[in-house]
Amino acid sequence: MILNNYLQNYVDNTDWIGTEGVGYQKNEECMNCENITHEYSFFTITNDSGGLGASLCKKCTPMFLKYCAVRNKKIESYGEKNGLKQIQNWLRINSKFKHKQTRKIIPALKHEALVRANYKCQDCGISKNESPLEVDHIISVSQGGSDELCNLQVLCFDCNRAKHGRCWEAGN
Ligand SMILES: [Zn+2]
Ligand SMILES: [Zn+2]
Repeated sequence: MILNNYLQNYVDNTDWIGTEGVGYQKNEECMNCENITHEYSFFTITNDSGGLGASLCKKCTPMFLKYCAVRNKKIESYGEKNGLKQIQNWLRINSKFKHKQTRKIIPALKHEALVRANYKCQDCGISKNESPLEVDHIISVSQGGSDELCNLQVLCFDCNRAKHGRCWEAGN
């Protein structure tokens, strides 16, 4: 799964993204996967079409952060809550309870991910003939991401490097 088009468009055209941190509420719907969650991260995204309040579940939050990092969109904490740090801690604490994952993706799954992506980078669209393609974890293993196909994405060498390790530098 990747970030839905609605959120992607909003992030692409945003001039400001801020976060208050983590929220707790019964039956909140994740704006990306539409699953019901009780714990969510909260972002405000603004652009010409107005402000959007986005609640995202634990699974979709890392994807959102990665997408913002790839697009060079800085996320600011607002209020006195130190929102982004709060979200980072929330993801870290939750990942501790996941069983151990290996970092290696088995070749058959890699192949499946590549076929699904039509042998193109899922970020910039470059093909395997133009750049080496890599299969990447959307939610990293260290954050509890799995090796299942739904957690894999195909990125070209440049996009993967541009993104690598930058999620957490987006805010303060
Ligand atoms: Zn979700
Ligand atoms: Zn690319």
